[in-house]
Amino acid sequence: MKPFTLGILGAGQLGRMTAIAAAQLGIKSHIYAPDAAGSPAAEVAAFATTGAYDDKVALVKFAKSVDAVTSEFENVPASAMTLLSEHVPASPGAKALGVAQNRLSEKNLARELGISVPDFWAIHSDEALAAALDALQGKGVLKTTTMGYDGKGQMRVSTGDDAASIFAQMGSEELILEAFVPFAYEVSFLVGRTAGGQISHFPATQNHHENGILATSIAPADCPETVVEAGQKAAEDLASALELTGVMAMESFITKDGQLIFNEIAPRPHNSFHWTIEGCETSQFTQLARIMAGLPLGATEARGLWKMQNLLGQHMDEVPDHLHRSGRALHLYGKAEAKTDRKMGHVTWPIDG
Ligand code: AMP
Repeated sequence: MKPFTLGILGAGQLGRMTAIAAAQLGIKSHIYAPDAAGSPAAEVAAFATTGAYDDKVALVKFAKSVDAVTSEFENVPASAMTLLSEHVPASPGAKALGVAQNRLSEKNLARELGISVPDFWAIHSDEALAAALDALQGKGVLKTTTMGYDGKGQMRVSTGDDAASIFAQMGSEELILEAFVPFAYEVSFLVGRTAGGQISHFPATQNHHENGILATSIAPADCPETVVEAGQKAAEDLASALELTGVMAMESFITKDGQLIFNEIAPRPHNSFHWTIEGCETSQFTQLARIMAGLPLGATEARGLWKMQNLLGQHMDEVPDHLHRSGRALHLYGKAEAKTDRKMGHVTWPIDG
């Protein structure tokens, strides 16, 4: 194998675990982020550049120092990726980022591809919100279209609520109102896609959220084969439509009668697939490193049934217990401050039977 350096935009735990997986394949990583210095990703990478996503000189220098660029963070400006791609293969490209950065765009694309989505309304004023709440006739979830994550930027609402005060509270120019989906459970899918369009599916994962934040995952998900097939096809169609090179996650709701309803996508490794490090023949991070370096796709069979639990700032006193139990794989991300709801690490273990 020729020496290969993978450029990674973003400096969090996803970049960290990608760099660790890449290193195992002899691939060096170069982290680029405004907060790279001392970050979870930079401390395990060969190189790190602290630079803004609009610093053209620094971005071009970074592009020239690497063989390919991926991003662990979908809110990188699309213009940064476009500039990088003039010098080096870079994905997710502007199209994938543009869609994944906006909840309206991702739902519109899903709908165009024939994937079921909840009823939704684009909201740009309190009048529009009042009309949409009226049309909804029930419960809904109001979300900012951009920059929302881990339950931030969203609110449960109902027909009859005071649109003007809610619109002011949300403090955003563009919102999406979604009908509340009375789901039986939540399942995410992960697809790997090579530059040549070859596809690799991971086993589906069942997720449990608390306060809008992923708490635990169990995989492979215990759901009907028809659900798995529908989800894998949807994820594959989305990744292909977005011309993605890398990995992409799709979160979905499954109703009592087994219908899959699209929630959102992330064109990067995903928290709900951290179990693949121990639980799959090839982890999501290794698959991403392979794809970016032009290596063959790895097999993705699960090695039994796995559970993953996130360790948020308020869970750090559980760490000694996990350390004392055999069979548990503890991952800490090296973040200095354990703030409430901050993802500090995760732990996985095999489930018997
Ligand atoms: P999101 O940031 O869109 O992934 O939302 C975080 C979590 O909120 C989801 O995983 C669901 O548990 C819940 N949620 C979001 N949107 C809806 C919806 N339309 N119907 C029911 N639950 C939702």
